[in-house]
Amino acid sequence: MSGKLEVRGLDVVFDGFRAISDLDLTVEPGELRFLIGPNGAGKTTLIDVVTGRTRPASGSVRFNGQELVGRREHRIVRLGIGRTFQTSVVFEQLTVLENLDLAASFRRPLAGLLRRRRGVSDQVSRALDTTGLADLAYRPAGVLSHGQRQWLEIGMLIVQQPSLLLLDEPVAGMSRSERDRTGELLREVAKDHTVMVIEHDMEFLRRFASTVTVLHEGKLLCEGTVAQVQADPRVQQVYLGRAREETTEPLVQEASS
Ligand code: ADP
Ligand code: MG
Repeated sequence: MSGKLEVRGLDVVFDGFRAISDLDLTVEPGELRFLIGPNGAGKTTLIDVVTGRTRPASGSVRFNGQELVGRREHRIVRLGIGRTFQTSVVFEQLTVLENLDLAASFRRPLAGLLRRRRGVSDQVSRALDTTGLADLAYRPAGVLSHGQRQWLEIGMLIVQQPSLLLLDEPVAGMSRSERDRTGELLREVAKDHTVMVIEHDMEFLRRFASTVTVLHEGKLLCEGTVAQVQADPRVQQVYLGRAREETTEPLVQEASS
């Protein structure tokens, strides 16, 4: 399986503000990696750099050995990297199936046209199954629940056949049962993709994460299993310090229980 991501010595600077500092990170092919850290830690920025949206001041990002820094976004998509955004990108008036079909055709426009003549492609029907949205295939995306919409977005990535998926807070705003369903979905997807997920919810992490990377103020704070990360005094300090300002910090509630 391909999909290895290697970040080395990464620095990202916005108008003199250092959003990422000397970051090293390796994600192995087929890994389901979780990335956590307080607001402003640089998590989304890291995804922006990997996908070519933001250019780093220095450092290297290799994907299957190929340097990504300096490549345009669409070239990086073509190398097999897909991402979701914190805001939704589905077309509400189109059906679930049409959204998937459209996403599938983004990567290979001609193949998309040919496919449409033949009906539902294998990729699209597989994505409907994987995401559990088959029964909703002919419903407009606008009627989906928040959770279903997130699953559709993940489906829209899968049909583009990336080897690395970068998911920015996919379970934010979901109910507990939607979170569980999403965790199962991510496990399923990670069977044949490398997946990096930004998420904060410790209960979710404990159930579905193996390796967790913690960012803080643009630096790698620590990395390990959920238990190791939770027991790390530096992580507790970062989240505890924050907890005095933000009363709803999941890590702290979990760490003290
Ligand atoms: P996270 O996703 O971990 O909450 P971000 O990566 O979005 O954090 O942001 C990290 C820091 O970089 C924040 O302080 C944010 O304000 C800043 N930042 C992010 N993107 C930009 C940008 N395009 N211009 C200026 N500052 C930015
Ligand atoms: Mg973010």
